[in-house]
Amino acid sequence: MADKVQALPYFFGNITREEAEEYLRQGGAGDGLYLLRQSRSFLGGFALSVAYGRQLYHYTIEREMNDTYAIAGGKSHRNPIDVIDYHSQESDGLICLLKRPFNRPRGTEPKVGPFEDLKEQLIRQYVKQTWNLQGSALEQAIISQRPQLEKLISTTAHEKMPWFHGKIDREDSEQRLLRSSHVNGKFLIRQRENNGRNVSYALCLRHNNQVMHYRIDKDKAGKLSIPDGKKFDTLWQLVEHYSYKPDGLLRVLTETCPRPSQDSGLGATGGILSRIKSYSFPKPGQKKGHIENPYNFRSNLRGELPKPNIFNNTEAMPMDTQVYESPYADPEELRSTTVKRSDLTLEDGELGSGNFGTVLRGVYQMKKTQKIVAVKILKNEDNNAAVKDEMLREASVMQQLDNPYIVRMIGICEAESLMLVMELAELGPLHKFLQKNKHISVKNITELVHQVSMGMKYLEEHNFVHRDLAARNVLLVTQHYAKISDFGLSKALTEEENYYKAKGHGKWPLKWYAPECMNYLKFSSKSDVWSFGVLMWEAFSLGQKPYKGMKGNEVIQMIESGERMSAPADCPPEMYDLMRKCWTYRPDERPGFSVVEPRLRHYYYDISQ
Ligand code: ATP
Repeated sequence: MADKVQALPYFFGNITREEAEEYLRQGGAGDGLYLLRQSRSFLGGFALSVAYGRQLYHYTIEREMNDTYAIAGGKSHRNPIDVIDYHSQESDGLICLLKRPFNRPRGTEPKVGPFEDLKEQLIRQYVKQTWNLQGSALEQAIISQRPQLEKLISTTAHEKMPWFHGKIDREDSEQRLLRSSHVNGKFLIRQRENNGRNVSYALCLRHNNQVMHYRIDKDKAGKLSIPDGKKFDTLWQLVEHYSYKPDGLLRVLTETCPRPSQDSGLGATGGILSRIKSYSFPKPGQKKGHIENPYNFRSNLRGELPKPNIFNNTEAMPMDTQVYESPYADPEELRSTTVKRSDLTLEDGELGSGNFGTVLRGVYQMKKTQKIVAVKILKNEDNNAAVKDEMLREASVMQQLDNPYIVRMIGICEAESLMLVMELAELGPLHKFLQKNKHISVKNITELVHQVSMGMKYLEEHNFVHRDLAARNVLLVTQHYAKISDFGLSKALTEEENYYKAKGHGKWPLKWYAPECMNYLKFSSKSDVWSFGVLMWEAFSLGQKPYKGMKGNEVIQMIESGERMSAPADCPPEMYDLMRKCWTYRPDERPGFSVVEPRLRHYYYDISQ
């Protein structure tokens, strides 16, 4: 959606109301002339400016709880473009019908607000400092969690702003403002002591030799405002607004009064961006100003992974879990492919079972910490060397992979049986989870499927083919964190060939296989893309079996005849369209994961905004 709005010729971005009026006047301000701009008060919201009878009118298009858009009190629509289309036909409370859009002058791009620039920098700093990540782990965290991180940063960014002084009293704030230079318009925001559950703040503003205190209240919907003033989603939007016009205050905000502990140069001049540059986020674990995360699994030094509460509204981020980074990312933990039996404790109760044997939960004692792990135990009653080889081959593939969206192998343990020690993905296979949790949102499914595409993109870039990609082989760490598993059929490709040629047909998951696998025994990342399309279908149909009731050869016939599975009920058309792309007959015309992943990413960002 964001991209679609950005591309509208009549979208002006983060311009002020006055700038909008100026543009509409330039356009002649005829009745029904309009433009769209970004709301400067509401996150994810827009504002519509309309000319009528030589006057200019402004309407806020708010983003509602269920991700729809509406002009306050009006009809809800799927997106702001639909709001405009609707009001081109029906005035329905608007001063007049929207008749003609006013387009941006040639060479003018939608204006980027100060926070947009800043947001990127803040997200990076936040992820780096909160989870101590860098390099590709940091990049992947940002890609997969951007919507959540943006919300977190938007609503808590004030804590990082030099003008936010936290809980200080009225006298303290006056001292701070009057002590330093005699600048009218110098300001700070403090959090007020209040006994109720509602947080309230005060904007303290220097005017001549006095300090004015304006209470900032939060209403039931979480909107912030000075009594009788304009409402905002965040404190930084409020500060931006009053920095540009007094709008009821005695004067505009001109200069930040920096917190005493900070560099005295910080707040002297410039916009928010220059004020923030040298501010550092509190270190993880540091209480003051730190955004507490209820899922901070990493802080659990005993290495115990608390059972994630899948029904909790607070969304755990993958980075909050123990399995986001490799256990060997800590340089003090020596990487080893073998696990000593004495360091491994197996627990009762199966996590699952498969062809090889059973998978048990266990505890692995590492040098510094204990890890809860999953242990795949080879059934060795038949003592079959070929089966053992197969498991060792799986281990050797897994050992070469290191990605947050792929189950990592921790090591091999040769004891009473051959055992493959892996990261634990406690919530088990995706299809079963979906079958049991049918109320899961489309956004949540898209988030998980996008993570799988990130793991697959990594495999594609590293020349591995999975060959058994299916919802049963995607395991969930939490409701918001998926990992690809089961590398039993996987192959590393050589430099020369971008496909693997099987020696003959095996016990294959035909319903997930592309036509070239069946016809020419050829497996490539493109055939994994086909399987990914089937996986998407399974996910959006909440764990149903693909091609239900059909036999393998019937499926092959159906595909050869050009027919494909129809869209699962309630599947967004954008997602079904992507599945169909994954089921392109010819592998050279089929997109790779380098195309599929960004498509999913953008759709996920759009529906999460
Ligand atoms: P098959 O070859 O029949 O697909 P397999 O013998 O290769 O099976 P897996 O599919 O790897 O075995 O695992 C069987 C089951 O064990 C999974 O479906 C899952 O329920 C559980 N399991 C496997 N690995 C893990 C893990 N890392 N964390 C949690 N559970 C796991």
